[in-house]
Amino acid sequence: MLHFLDNYPLEYMTTLSIGGPTKKFVKVKTEEELIKAIKYAKDQLMPYLIIGGGSNLLVSDEAIDCLVIKNEINGISATHPRGEKMRLHLRGIMVSTKSGTPLQKLVNYTIQHGLSGLQKLTGIPGTVGGAVYGNAGAYGQSISDHIIKIATLNPDKLTIEQFNNPQCWFNYRDSIFKQNKYAILEVIFQLKKGDPKALQQEAKEILAKRLVRYPPDIKCSGSFFKNLIVSEIPRGILKNIPPEKIVYGKIPAGSLLEEVGAKGQKLDGIEIAPYHANLFINKNNGTAKAFYNLAKTYAIKVKNKFGIKLEPEVQLINLPKILE
Ligand SMILES: Cc1cc2nc3c(=O)[nH]c(=O)nc-3n(C[C@H](O)[C@H](O)[C@H](O)COP(=O)(O)OP(=O)(O)OC[C@H]3O[C@@H](n4cnc5c(N)ncnc54)[C@H](O)[C@@H]3O)c2cc1C
Repeated sequence: MLHFLDNYPLEYMTTLSIGGPTKKFVKVKTEEELIKAIKYAKDQLMPYLIIGGGSNLLVSDEAIDCLVIKNEINGISATHPRGEKMRLHLRGIMVSTKSGTPLQKLVNYTIQHGLSGLQKLTGIPGTVGGAVYGNAGAYGQSISDHIIKIATLNPDKLTIEQFNNPQCWFNYRDSIFKQNKYAILEVIFQLKKGDPKALQQEAKEILAKRLVRYPPDIKCSGSFFKNLIVSEIPRGILKNIPPEKIVYGKIPAGSLLEEVGAKGQKLDGIEIAPYHANLFINKNNGTAKAFYNLAKTYAIKVKNKFGIKLEPEVQLINLPKILE
């Protein structure tokens, strides 16, 4: 039974603790409930938005005329490619995960079962669905690396459609789901056997590094702007970038923001981390407006100095583009 709430403040649903009220809000725990919720929005001619952990969202302060559907469809199971449970096979073990499963739960599961390929994603908040949508990654590993199939819901026909890995158009922090707005329902990974102790140790070391950048109570949405891929930057612009800023074929957005003095800047409760210029933190009852204005100010400075248009990695909800 779906329980719709009216005028629900989205600040409760984002890791930034920012966001105005949405006209309707509902949590779904099964795929049937998700379909019902989408049908409801369509019947009411109301736009809808599926969210997971709200860890990659900047939502406007103003009210949103929308149904926000919080995906809590949870579950992990592992099968041998021919259906036998948890047996090693040359092609690897298939792990099937419902999209509302917390990513950390999946990472822990794979480590405990000695399955290699997701351990470096430890510490990334949010759900598996949110991670697939933005092809989340860290320390050289991306969620897309071992995905073989995704079950989705076609939002127009409300039919289930399967995508194999190439059909998902995965790229750096990008996937086809940013364009087609299909609902991600279930994700199937194929993972190779590894040593649980070694995987655990790797994850432990990464988590320790992450805790320095993201202390437990931090209110943020991860890195705000995407890093830049050198091969995608026109030569005329690339010549403006000091070569030492290029790291493994990418230019970290943070290093350009640092060059224009972003580190430690503050505006009305929002602070850019003094230790990382691409990390915007809600320190003291900050608003989306302050966050947006601070981000825009420094994106313009980067554009003026380097000719580079930074693009947000974070999804802007009910807000205009940072740079046209
Ligand atoms: C402290 C911190 C550290 C972070 N570190 C990293 C990092 O190292 N690497 C990294 O890549 N990211 C990082 N992030 C960003 C964020 O955690 C990831 O992008 C995460 O994968 C988002 O998942 P989510 O469930 O919270 O998505 P949400 O924020 O809820 O949603 C993000 C987008 O995904 C869409 N979406 C969500 N679920 C579905 C679904 N089932 N079907 C279709 N669309 C869907 C939403 O509509 C929205 O557009 C960090 C964030 C924080 C707060």
